[in-house]
Amino acid sequence: MILKSGVGAYANMFVFLIVGAYFGSNCPQSFSQNTAVREPVSSPQAIQSPAIIYRRPIIDVHLHTDPPISAMGVPNPVTGSKPAATPTELRDSVIEQCKRYNIVRGVLNGYPGTLKSWVDKDPKRFISAPMILEQDKHPVIDVATLRQELREGRAGALGEIISQYVGLEPNDPALEPYWALAEELGVPTMIHTGTSFPGTPYFGYPAFRLRLGNPLLLEDVLVKHPKLRLWIAHGGEPWTEETFALMAEYPQIYMDVSTINWIGGPAGRPAFHAFLKQAIDRGLETRIMFGSDQMGWPDAIGLAIAGVDSAPFLTSDQKHDIFYGNATTFFLLRDQD
Ligand SMILES: [Zn+2]
Repeated sequence: MILKSGVGAYANMFVFLIVGAYFGSNCPQSFSQNTAVREPVSSPQAIQSPAIIYRRPIIDVHLHTDPPISAMGVPNPVTGSKPAATPTELRDSVIEQCKRYNIVRGVLNGYPGTLKSWVDKDPKRFISAPMILEQDKHPVIDVATLRQELREGRAGALGEIISQYVGLEPNDPALEPYWALAEELGVPTMIHTGTSFPGTPYFGYPAFRLRLGNPLLLEDVLVKHPKLRLWIAHGGEPWTEETFALMAEYPQIYMDVSTINWIGGPAGRPAFHAFLKQAIDRGLETRIMFGSDQMGWPDAIGLAIAGVDSAPFLTSDQKHDIFYGNATTFFLLRDQD
């Protein structure tokens, strides 16, 4: 509810146009299946170079190596910039942005081919977090393979579980072996919560249901797997009260503020700041992590940083916690700052 104005502003920016595939046939599957392109109705908002004062190291816990179908071929809804045209271009542009903004570590959500390409290119920066769901309810990576990837260090986390997009509740039996594995190995694991692009069920994810983004649906999983190291993406927005209740009841949970820190553009910033302030006031400052969720738009990274950096009520210590310190705790990383 609290972020309605930001998301509403975002929704109003679009019409939906069905056009052909945006990317060439040589692209990997995930880059070539887009059928929906949305174009801004109005001129892009002018924040191409967001003002950012913060210069200390940053950890971005929410980067994507494979854009979601609903974002492919779509201009950045805030800046109007074109998305990266190829997987390589996306990778190289994101690395460039990481260097520009002092993002020293980044958690990569994606599928095996692109994950490997990104980690090979910049192994000290990136942590690989395979995604187990793509477009349907059937996991794309089996538990035995995932166990091997984690045990042998090729993966360091479990990437965004998009159960909402494929019509699954978090406690669906199909996901149970993955929760059990993540708990057993102590693997940081992220699940999408909240909402998505307007019209998502019509564009690439017919099983997507809004109600499946409610963070309270995680409760059975948390009870069954008390040692699970889970973080919820996007602060559960717009179910923010549910997020706060869940985080109060289950102190092991962290959240990231990806997407909600930039998708509303300038009009959405006050609502994001109100959410952040409420989280701080509820004592969650050590469990909030920065993420951009740049999807296919590298310029979203700067916007996301600016969204947090511009919060006038944050002390420098709180900013450091959100941008860096909380993630070092959650991911058990060595402090570089
Ligand atoms: Zn997400």
